[in-house]
Amino acid sequence: MKVESVRGMRDILPEEVPLWQKLEEEIRSLFALYGYKEIRPPLVELAELFSRSVGEATDIVHKEMYVFPDKKGQMLALRPEATASVVRAYIEHGLYAKGDLAKLYYIGPMFRYEKPQKGRQRQFHQYGVEALGSLDPALDAEVIDLAWHLMERVGLSREGLFLRLNSIGCREDRPAYRAALRAHFSGRKEELCPDCQRRLQENPLRILDCKEPQCQGAIAAAPKSLDFLCEKCRAHFEELLAILEDLGLSYELDPRLVRGIDYYTRTVFELCSRELGAQDALLGGGRYDDLVELLGGPPTPGVGFAGGMERLVLVLSQHGLSQDEASELDLFVIPIGEEGKRRAVGILAQLRRRGISADLDYMGRSLRKAMSVAARRARYALLLGPDELSQNSATLKNLVTGVSSTAPLAEFLSNPRSFLGSTGT
Ligand code: AMP
Repeated sequence: MKVESVRGMRDILPEEVPLWQKLEEEIRSLFALYGYKEIRPPLVELAELFSRSVGEATDIVHKEMYVFPDKKGQMLALRPEATASVVRAYIEHGLYAKGDLAKLYYIGPMFRYEKPQKGRQRQFHQYGVEALGSLDPALDAEVIDLAWHLMERVGLSREGLFLRLNSIGCREDRPAYRAALRAHFSGRKEELCPDCQRRLQENPLRILDCKEPQCQGAIAAAPKSLDFLCEKCRAHFEELLAILEDLGLSYELDPRLVRGIDYYTRTVFELCSRELGAQDALLGGGRYDDLVELLGGPPTPGVGFAGGMERLVLVLSQHGLSQDEASELDLFVIPIGEEGKRRAVGILAQLRRRGISADLDYMGRSLRKAMSVAARRARYALLLGPDELSQNSATLKNLVTGVSSTAPLAEFLSNPRSFLGSTGT
């Protein structure tokens, strides 16, 4: 039987990995520039963590979460997102006790049982930031600025992107807005898909996330959250808009943007690409001022975002950051004959201990074929034939210029860098 990978969970192959690594480096260094520190929560949590925070009525929990009992019958979940885990860790380890803003970031795999399609998988990877401890709209703006900055840093132009922005108010505003939505959708119940009929009872806000064509008419005419904001929430949002304008960051108000997660309050946003089609959100986030308290911590506001690595890779494979064209190795060792092969193994070990990236032809190729492999993979070839071995020397061929030179082996091995020209790969 041929065992294949699980649907929606794909291998990131060696030729793709350099782009992923480069992207991860850019993300880490930029997050550090804004004062965020990495946290690495486990991939498995109690299922309850997500049902309480993300919400029972959300698609993520209701339909997409991988839930399973452990050997003691405790219900566990593969994390579908990381904000809940970060907040759990924040509470569990008393990170709030330091009385300061906690700025945390993560990068890692998430799991959702969704219908796989371009830009949507069942195991996917997210990078994200969480800033816990301040209500200041300047912090919302900083998080949004960071999102824009990241896209610029990886080489995407502002023109190809747009920011969707909304405020969904605080928990005091929610009952009136929910009631207005329920009244609106109850009047158009027959138009709604079966899921939305259920959502109407459980949480009518979730209807606004629905992508079913039959629901779009009722959604387009739905009441807007901005009309239900209290004074404080309105002032918070206005301040945020003013700061974004100061920063020169453009946005499009989207009164129907609520994001498919229950813990959001006030600011919600998505940074989207004009080139991605249906799955256009590169990242999404917002405020979650009640989440820490909801999960058992002291009242602590928070704001953050999460972005999908796969979607960034998709747009970047068309533009921006591209794979390094440089050769992967400094040197490729080509032994000729048995004696050469035995010596090559020892020489290779010494070179690597001196920091030279090197490999050997293990396939017993002819000299011509081995040279063509070397030309593809390395900057230099080191030839060890009978002549070289009898004189304790080696021939070094620069695979870019084609120039060869022979040097005493001991001299070469004592300082290989000096023979290899400029810096290595
Ligand atoms: P969310 O956690 O749903 O707010 O999603 C945040 C970001 O993660 C989205 O904007 C996408 O870029 C990415 N994302 C979410 N779900 C998936 C998925 N199933 N496959 C790939 N990327 C995803």
